[in-house]
Amino acid sequence: LAVPGEADQWRFYHPALEAELQRRSHYRLALHEALDRRQMFLVYQPKIDLGSGRVIGAEALLRWVHPELGFVSPAEFVPLAEASGEILRIGDWVLDSAIRQLEAWFAAQQLPDGFRIAVNVATLQLMQPDFAERLLERLQRSSLPRGALEIEVTESGLMQDVALARRQLQQLAGQGLSIAIDDFGTGYSSLAYLKTLPVSVLKIDRAFVNEIDSNLQDLRLAETVVQMARNFGFVTVAEGIERAEHVALLQDIGCQLGQGYWYSPPLKADAFLAFCQQTHAACP
Ligand code: C2E
Ligand code: MG
Ligand code: MG
Ligand code: MG
Repeated sequence: LAVPGEADQWRFYHPALEAELQRRSHYRLALHEALDRRQMFLVYQPKIDLGSGRVIGAEALLRWVHPELGFVSPAEFVPLAEASGEILRIGDWVLDSAIRQLEAWFAAQQLPDGFRIAVNVATLQLMQPDFAERLLERLQRSSLPRGALEIEVTESGLMQDVALARRQLQQLAGQGLSIAIDDFGTGYSSLAYLKTLPVSVLKIDRAFVNEIDSNLQDLRLAETVVQMARNFGFVTVAEGIERAEHVALLQDIGCQLGQGYWYSPPLKADAFLAFCQQTHAACP
């Protein structure tokens, strides 16, 4: 739809586009205010040793509940926060909150030694030249052993600036943090390449897990990925375990760890602790 503008100019006016732009700028503002307004919090999804059924750690996942927009998925707002740069402030808050939560759990002796929390780190965060240094300083000020923290990065995050990523990851891994590649299999990096980085964990994307109980090709693919990863010395974590059949098949093909709705969805801190205590009572 074209409407006459001032003088002889025609200005293109597209109601749908205008509405979309408005929605986004509203959204961006809401996102900017979300932390100060205490609309964000972390939930924790148990990570399970598939062999013993024990909880060995958790992945911290960010949640945003806005009074009008309601629940907004991180799959939606994290990319927006990356585009606006807001993810830097939010990411610092996530790391800080996860560290404080784990400190509190350890202080109350509510979790076993060796328990580890994994935090997702966005590409933009990793590309800050002082990211590793600041995180190590933050850990220094905490009572946590450095091995209690794992960071999850994506393949694309590593590819953006390989030299910078390598330097930062070496700094972190050198101090005992473990580094996981998230959504493994959805990007393009080879295991041989990943082996040149201080990465110890590969998280097999749930797209590779979901159909292993109904599609033999998928099962063979998952098996190949897990076997290769293990031959290269990586620990493998399956994402998106939703059925008992998934657990049995993943164990058969040699996958060590997993997470998914079959065990538990991500939980608020209190519910997470209750889950751990229950599970450990059940399988000591
Ligand atoms: P991700 O890191 O791959 O996290 C796994 C996602 O799978 C989570 O979605 C989790 O809730 C979901 N999930 C877990 N088990 C199952 C299952 O059995 N079935 C299915 N269908 N899904 C399952 P969530 O929490 O919506 O997070 C989506 C993505 O948003 C994350 O993917 C991660 O990339 C990003 N994200 C979440 N929190 C943060 C954060 O604090 N910082 C950054 N940078 N990104 C985050
Ligand atoms: Mg993750
Ligand atoms: Mg993932
Ligand atoms: Mg994923």
